[in-house]
Amino acid sequence: SLKGKSAVITGSNSGIGLGVARELARASANVVLNSFTDRPEDHDLAKSIAQEFGVEARYIKADLSKGAEARGLIEQAGHCDILVNNAGIQHVAPIDEFPVEKWDTIIAIMLNSAFHTTAVALPMMRKAGWGRVVNIASAHGLTASPYKSAYVSAKHGVVGMTKVVALETAKEAITANAICPGYVHTPLVEAQIPDTAKKYNMTEEEAVEKIILDRQPSKQFATVEQIGGTAVFLCSEAAAQITGTTISVDGGWTAL
Ligand code: NAD
Repeated sequence: SLKGKSAVITGSNSGIGLGVARELARASANVVLNSFTDRPEDHDLAKSIAQEFGVEARYIKADLSKGAEARGLIEQAGHCDILVNNAGIQHVAPIDEFPVEKWDTIIAIMLNSAFHTTAVALPMMRKAGWGRVVNIASAHGLTASPYKSAYVSAKHGVVGMTKVVALETAKEAITANAICPGYVHTPLVEAQIPDTAKKYNMTEEEAVEKIILDRQPSKQFATVEQIGGTAVFLCSEAAAQITGTTISVDGGWTAL
């Protein structure tokens, strides 16, 4: 059980981040949710997690494209035994047409923010004598696809930084690992299915199998609960000697 541990999950008002927060709360951790908005429904998500799992849950607004806000998130959380760097966005374009501003934002949200949050969280973990850094990378942290230069670069960067954090904390009760999901069933992916089917003149099932899950040999999406469960495992005693590595949850993508 993670009772008494405090977890901060970046980008957690939807999708994988929310799924990870829910699984950590199910394992009795207190959780801090985050995104860049500050709507009543964001705070309601935290309330409903607190109620459902009997833990403390808060929502803290921070725009992680800004380094100072990424640092401020961890400072405001006050405690951070478990840091899950999850926030991310995508943009698809050939390199020579890739908007410079998009490149900068993607690297800022997905790579720089993980540097900033980790830098502030590590002293807290050291003080507590225990810590877990779980970075949500991607199959694109280990392999590439055309037209995703910023995303693939940021995710490879996150995998590299994970290894450095692991080495700098190797003798302490702190681990750092990256989870590398393939395609995960999130509202974002769900929304792409009808359009993809229309574009290729296929049924939705065909579009999922042949186009969306083209590179995922299992031909099934991973679920946010499975990514959350992997994070909970990395926080367990069984995983205390797992550090500086990646765990793929990709239905065989990176085995190809
Ligand atoms: P999502 O869009 O549902 O979630 C992204 C989260 O990041 C949201 O909560 C969003 O509000 C937040 N976010 C975006 N910009 C932010 C900013 N500037 N500041 C703070 N928060 C911000 O998408 P998701 O699929 O759940 O993706 C979560 C992570 O998982 C990302 O890093 C993504 O690259 C990674 N991932 C997703 C998949 C997939 O198939 N869905 C596969 C591999 C990796």
